[in-house]
Amino acid sequence: MFTPLTGRTVVVTGGTKGIGKGIAGVFARAGANVVVVARDAERGEAVAAELGGAYVAADVGRAEDCERMAAEALERFGGIDVLCANAGVFPDTKLADMTEADIDAIFATNVKGTMLSVKACLPALERSGHGRVVVTSSITGPITGFPGWSHYGATKAAQLGFVRTAAIELSGKGITINAVMPGNIETEGLAELGAEYREQMEKSIPQGKLGRVEDIGNAALFLATDEAAYITGQTIVVDGGQVLSESIMGLET
Ligand code: NAP
Repeated sequence: MFTPLTGRTVVVTGGTKGIGKGIAGVFARAGANVVVVARDAERGEAVAAELGGAYVAADVGRAEDCERMAAEALERFGGIDVLCANAGVFPDTKLADMTEADIDAIFATNVKGTMLSVKACLPALERSGHGRVVVTSSITGPITGFPGWSHYGATKAAQLGFVRTAAIELSGKGITINAVMPGNIETEGLAELGAEYREQMEKSIPQGKLGRVEDIGNAALFLATDEAAYITGQTIVVDGGQVLSESIMGLET
């Protein structure tokens, strides 16, 4: 039995859509105060209302936005116990066509945005006494590759490098930091990649189906519990077994 997270405050960047909204929903149903953070205010306000939480408009790639995000969460709920650094973008471009601007833009949100949002929440997470950070990485980059995502894969691997050193630095502050590594999860963003992409992915997953956003939310919720206090600097792959088979023959059994 896990200690309930009732009354704790969780900030979820990118919490207005897809995986982030799934994470925020799982925490809200577990009784936590939820703060969702994203750029689109109309969607943000609607999701906050749906989850009974708060919305903060911020671009995680900007330090002043991240500082304001932490300040508004504190003002609204009096503390921050959990940060889910989930905001991310995944445009696809082959390396030969990639511009410097493409690379800067994806690193600004996925890597700099992760680091800035964690940094901004540190004082509040330390005061919490059981501060938790859960970063949304991916299997793409740290484990697998996919054409068009060399820059994306680089950002998702970079997040894990950040997590490992941050875990050491934050241990003395009573804060843990871990990463979830989703496989292919049923989201609006993934739907935009088309039916063919989806079919191919389903065929490459031993469980034969895409993941649900709640599957990632549940992994994040576990890492946020008091019972996960001794786990830091680690990763959990949540992918229905997608990374396991050495070849497609292994999936025909
Ligand atoms: P999504 O449906 O496109 O949602 C992305 C969320 O991030 C939205 O709320 C978006 O809101 C927000 N966001 C994007 N850029 C932002 C910025 N600069 N500042 C603040 N918020 C920002 O994406 P998703 O599929 O749920 O992906 C979420 C995370 O999971 C990403 O880190 C992604 O790399 C990872 N992931 C996804 C999958 C998958 O199968 N979907 C698999 C592995 C990993 P606004 O646009 O309003 O800002």
